[in-house]
Amino acid sequence: MIPFFDLKRQYKLIQDELDTASREVNTGGIYISGYEVHRFERSFAEYLKAKHCITCGNGTDAIEIVLKAWGIGSGDEVIVPAFTWVSDAEAVLTVGATPVFVDIEDEYYGIDPHKLKEKVNEKTKAIIAVHLFGHACKIKELMDFAKKHDLLVLEDAAQSHGAMAGDKKVGSLGNAAIFSFYPTKNLGAYGDAGAIVTDDEMLASKVRLIANHGQPERDHHVLAGRNSRMDELQAAFLNVKLKFLEDFNNRRRAHADFYNENLKDQLIKPKTSDHARHVYHQYVIRVEERDLLKQYLEENSIGTAIHYPAPLPATIPFYEEKWAEKYPVATNASETILSLPVFPELSHQEAENIVNELNKYF
Ligand SMILES: *Cc1c(COP(=O)(O)O)cnc(C)c1O
Repeated sequence: MIPFFDLKRQYKLIQDELDTASREVNTGGIYISGYEVHRFERSFAEYLKAKHCITCGNGTDAIEIVLKAWGIGSGDEVIVPAFTWVSDAEAVLTVGATPVFVDIEDEYYGIDPHKLKEKVNEKTKAIIAVHLFGHACKIKELMDFAKKHDLLVLEDAAQSHGAMAGDKKVGSLGNAAIFSFYPTKNLGAYGDAGAIVTDDEMLASKVRLIANHGQPERDHHVLAGRNSRMDELQAAFLNVKLKFLEDFNNRRRAHADFYNENLKDQLIKPKTSDHARHVYHQYVIRVEERDLLKQYLEENSIGTAIHYPAPLPATIPFYEEKWAEKYPVATNASETILSLPVFPELSHQEAENIVNELNKYF
C-alpha cells in the first residue's frame, strides 16, 4: 500500500533531534511560554521576513484572534472563499460576524478578484485570502481591491509555509497572516499549534494580549481575552523542523515535477503562476468521474484524498440555497479534484508506481 500520508517516516528521519528537544523541555521544567516558544517566534518571523510572530494554540484560533483584535464582530461581514477548509468561515462566525462567500478562480483555487465587488457593502470589514494547496492566491489583486474599499486582508497561509509570491514569502503580504502547524502541514508539530504573523506592531501587541488572558504581565488584566498558547514541546519540535522546511518543500516539489512531466494530459495538472513558488501542500489533479478513479487507485493500493468534497455554502452550518449556481467554480472543483500522495518522504519508486497506475487507467 502507498499511503496518502505517513508521518512516522519523517519522525524516524529526525528522531534523534526531536527526542533530544523533548527531553530538554521535559527536564527544563517550563512548559508554556518559555525559551523554545520565544525562539520559534523570532526564527519564524525572520524566515518570513516579517516583524512579529505570535504563537497560539492552533490555526483556527489564530484567525479568530486576529478578527477580534481588529474589532470585527456582530453586524460585520468578512469575505471568505467558497472553497477552503472550514476554519475560515467558522472563525468569522465565532466572533459574531457573518462570512460572505465569494467563488474561487479555476487556476490556483483562491478568491476570484473579479467576483469581489458584488459582495462588498458598508458592513464588509475584511477579506480572508487563503493560499490553498501551497500556491499563493491572487494576493496582489486582492490587496489592491482591499485598499480601494478600505478593507483589511488576512492571509490564511496554513497550507503554504515557504510558498512565494514574487520575491516575498506568503504570510508577509497582507495586513496579517495566520499559520497552522497541524501535523500534516508543510511545517507540522506533534499536536495542535498555530501562529499569527504581522508587521503591524499595534496588532501584534493586541493579539498577544487576547491570546493570553489579556495579561501584559502576570495577574494584570487589561481586556477579556482567552487562552490560546503554543506549548514549549510543540515549539521545540518546530524549532527542529524549521531547519528542514526548505528541504521538505524541495522534496514535495521534486515529486510534483515528476508527476507534471510524466502523467498523461487527460487529467488536469496543478499550475504554477510565473512569479510563484509552489510548495505543494497538496498535489491536486482534476478529472471527470473522479470517484471512479479514486476507487481504481484504492483497489491498486494507492491512497488519495479529496480536499474538499463540498463548497462551504453546501455544508450544514453555512448552507445557502442554490449554492451550485452561485459558486460554479467551487462546485466543479469539489466534484473533480483528487489529491495524490506528495509528502516529502514518499519514495521515488512509489511516485513511479503512482504514475504507472494512473497512466494505465487512462
Ligand atoms: C489547517 C488549516 C486551518 C486551521 O488550522 P488548525 O491548526 O487545524 O486549526 C485553517 N485554514 C486552512 C486553509 C487550513 O488548511
